[in-house]
Amino acid sequence: MARVVQKFGGTSVADPEKIVRAAEKAALRHAAGDQVVVVVSAMGKQTDLLVGLAEQITESPSAREMDMLLSTGEQVSVSLFAMALQSMGHRAVSLTGGQIGIRTDSSHTKARIQSISTDHVKGLLESGAIVIAAGFQGFDPDGNITTLGRGGSDTTAVALAAVLNADRCEIYTDVDGIYTTDPRVHGNAARLVTVSHDEMLELASLGAGVMHSRSIEFAKKFGVPIVVRSSFEDGPGTEISSGSTSRRTVSGVALAKDEARITVEDVPDQPGASHQLFAELASRGISVDMIIQNAGTGGTADISFTVTNQDLPTALEITNCVAERLRAAGVTHNPDVAKVSIVGSGMVDAEGVAATLFNALSAAKINVHMITTSEIKVSVLVDRKNGEKSVAAAHKAFGLDGFIDKSSPAESGPVHKSDPLEVVRRLEGMEDLAIEDCQLDMSQALVTFLNLRDTPGVAAAVFEEVGRAGLNVDMIVQSFPRNGQAEISFTVPASDRQRALAAAENIAQACGAETTDVSEVAKLSITGVGIRSHAGVADKLFAPLADAGINIDLISTSEVRVNVLVAAEHGKRSLSILRTAFALE
Ligand code: ADP
Ligand code: ASP
Ligand code: MG
Repeated sequence: MARVVQKFGGTSVADPEKIVRAAEKAALRHAAGDQVVVVVSAMGKQTDLLVGLAEQITESPSAREMDMLLSTGEQVSVSLFAMALQSMGHRAVSLTGGQIGIRTDSSHTKARIQSISTDHVKGLLESGAIVIAAGFQGFDPDGNITTLGRGGSDTTAVALAAVLNADRCEIYTDVDGIYTTDPRVHGNAARLVTVSHDEMLELASLGAGVMHSRSIEFAKKFGVPIVVRSSFEDGPGTEISSGSTSRRTVSGVALAKDEARITVEDVPDQPGASHQLFAELASRGISVDMIIQNAGTGGTADISFTVTNQDLPTALEITNCVAERLRAAGVTHNPDVAKVSIVGSGMVDAEGVAATLFNALSAAKINVHMITTSEIKVSVLVDRKNGEKSVAAAHKAFGLDGFIDKSSPAESGPVHKSDPLEVVRRLEGMEDLAIEDCQLDMSQALVTFLNLRDTPGVAAAVFEEVGRAGLNVDMIVQSFPRNGQAEISFTVPASDRQRALAAAENIAQACGAETTDVSEVAKLSITGVGIRSHAGVADKLFAPLADAGINIDLISTSEVRVNVLVAAEHGKRSLSILRTAFALE
């Protein structure tokens, strides 16, 4: 007998007929002898309708009342779902988040799960009932109803699978699996047979709306195997698991459309400047991405970062205040940008990935405003109007148009493979940030080009030359251009320093750059789960280093990792500072 969690999204329970069809899936599984927990979203567009109602009453509804309102959507669908099962002769019990015991923090409309009590649900399962759980909702320590953020029913489902030690979590939705990019936008998108937790984490948090990214944090932390399938037709779907071994260079392309860029210009270049800014943003719960600080000239540097458009007004207000305090020259922003990312766990071992991407964008005449990379992804910031065109260009360039995934589904083992004590420790942490390790890499050199012409194709030209010189590039960062001039930095193995210097000359000539610099650096990498989705990780890094008077030259973030570069002489000291800061001693 297996224990299974099945989740049905909004379109899968959009009307009574669909509810009955979904209920039949649960009934079938139950009849086969399995214990079944069903997690249900609100019917169809019900949550949007509720948001619309609130907007008709007031422009700024209180977050508590929003949660009270939005949670009703799921209450309707769970009860109808239970009735459908009962009418088929099954015992079924619907439960709200509060009745299950899904305890969250008090950050209304984006609450995080703190604990889930399992006794009630387990008792019902043992007694032979099918449990229908309302997705997306919980309650805070004061008993207020909370919601987990739009799309949060996925997170309810995977979290329940984790605490109930379920054998698998099945996500039923309106597409028949995870695709290389959104199949509703790109007809050439291809279904993946398997995708790893890390790849899915990146894809989800970089814009692939098919899964709530926090659900994949749970899946990774607790080793929950997930399968994503269509509610409407039978098929193998896509397996998301840690066992997925396919190391494709690029597994998918994601688009985050509603991004905004903020730049603080001419910040006096001193340790602690970034810390002040990011600490205040984090304290207001604003997650920042693509943080780029250029190398700066004349004792000042520009700091650019992206936030979602939704967070832009608050982020600007905070940034303006901090900029004034830091005596920066000013703050600029652009609300009309999009972030395009390529993701693949085989990227680390492949050569010329970035160059291929930049060439494809250059050929499509798309100007790239900012670039950041991490081990398994490259993100570029482009004008919003170029977002979809960029996705199409990248998708084609990496051979994903019409791609046929030949990998075989991974063996889905039991949920908890780690030792029981470790599992208990993790379960206590639930959705907390989990920092697992901090490592120092002294084998890199940093190459920086200043004053590059800001025209489409400049990044392509730089990395074509880098490829020609046979240099193996690790981190790449392009800061937001000012006065028509861009700045690109990248790291290469320190042993290639001489070759990098020679190539730098050629690049400078070919691309019209004036200044180049190759320096020895220390790369510190912090790995864990929840790094991007928890506001404030960057800040936790900046603060102790700033206190020790250590300047960060470059930073790149991903879901599972933050990399920072500092001067080589500060490497060892930075490592011990960060190990202490993140309690890794
Ligand atoms: P549900 O209501 O079942 O939770 P969602 O609308 O949240 O469904 O997610 C499914 C949608 O995600 C699909 O209809 C598709 O348009 C979109 N999507 C975006 N990126 C991808 C992708 N890489 N693979 C599959 N679907 C994607
Ligand atoms: N009903 C909620 C929403 O539409 C949660 C979910 O569907 O996952 O965002
Ligand atoms: Mg969804």
